[in-house]
Amino acid sequence: MKRIAFYTLGCKVNRYDTEAMIAQFKKAGYQIVDFKQEADIYIINTCTVTKQGASKSRKITRRAKRRNPEALVAVVGCYPQVDPEQVMEITEVDLVVGTKGRSKILEFVEQAINSKHQLNFVQEMDEEEDFEEVPIQNFTERTRATIKIQEGCNQFCSYCIIPYARGSVRSRALADVIAEVERLVKHGFKEIVLTGIHLGEYGADKEDLNLVKLIKNLLPITGLKRIRLSSIEGTEVSQELIELIAESDKLCRHLHLPLQSGSDKILQAMNRPYQVRDFKEMVARIRAQVPEIAITTDVIVGFPGESEADFEETYQLMKELEFSDAHIFKYSKREGTPAAGYENQVHSKVKKERSKKLRELTAELARNYQQQFFGQKLKALLEESRDYKTGLLTGLTDNYLRVFVDGADDLAGQLVEVKIRGEAGRIIGSLE
Ligand code: SF4
Repeated sequence: MKRIAFYTLGCKVNRYDTEAMIAQFKKAGYQIVDFKQEADIYIINTCTVTKQGASKSRKITRRAKRRNPEALVAVVGCYPQVDPEQVMEITEVDLVVGTKGRSKILEFVEQAINSKHQLNFVQEMDEEEDFEEVPIQNFTERTRATIKIQEGCNQFCSYCIIPYARGSVRSRALADVIAEVERLVKHGFKEIVLTGIHLGEYGADKEDLNLVKLIKNLLPITGLKRIRLSSIEGTEVSQELIELIAESDKLCRHLHLPLQSGSDKILQAMNRPYQVRDFKEMVARIRAQVPEIAITTDVIVGFPGESEADFEETYQLMKELEFSDAHIFKYSKREGTPAAGYENQVHSKVKKERSKKLRELTAELARNYQQQFFGQKLKALLEESRDYKTGLLTGLTDNYLRVFVDGADDLAGQLVEVKIRGEAGRIIGSLE
């Protein structure tokens, strides 16, 4: 039996794509082993969002070949899609596949095993591309599954390589999503996270389909306890979606809305489709209807031309909007995007300082948000494995609080009601 190992870099969509590839190899009788073990085939599912993503992808590729010089090493995903020639120059690489054609990965690997040459299966993206259906079989954890419902993006933010790597918006057919969710629920999953490259655009390429319609079709599935949305643009949160979150006890009170900057000048340079005023109005509208909702965000610091005053606007806006958590990224020049050629690149030392300030602010905002719930009862979906440091069960509430619970093994995988309190920097959930 051939042993195959996978390594995934980057986002949730990539993790889903890896699971979908694993499913194909499992079905064909391959043995899936840990990437740290010796394998006959190594598949590296790459990321190219930052320069670091590409160099990390190269490093992992070389590591795999060192582990077993006889192994077949395949590099797949965004990095080869954007720069196939550069990937083909890595001598350790035997097989290259882009973001298209992963439904045929098994066939490609088997061809490469019998070939004495490097093989390149990267295909150009067509305008009229369809969503490539590659369902998953199972996940290692059995409580929460992320499923990909959409691919591609038409926004072309000036710093982002993704539209070049993933092509234009394609949506997965409604019936295919329903079938996959039903299958996962039958296997014991209780929470489904809907993800995509540009989630709010789900259905934009189809007749009479959108995210709200999809969610309405998923909510009645028996056994499904929760639906969570991954990142969605604030401009794409419709009134209908807010109402659905307010009314439904299955749709999580959590929205991840990427802000990126609090300066209109920088938002425009980023080619983001909103101004600060629009974003503020959206947050106010959501909170007026779902008061305790967790609103998390992404912010980029040090975008070319970001002055001290622009940064200050971002800092103040984050404070004003009281995000419950945030991912702070230091701008990283990505060749092939317009922003890489912009003047006034910000010095790395300045980016580091700005990032530190926003991280400190984020920690304070997160604590403030969490404290509102101390003394309240919330439902947490407990994961199957215990936290390795504390030995406690751990899980998420619908509003994205990570709670630690001292409970018996049979509670793992269950949705339990806990009373929330803070202790030693953690959120403790007591069963009472
Ligand atoms: S919306 Fe902007 S940041 Fe998000 S994937 Fe599309 S281009 Fe990239």
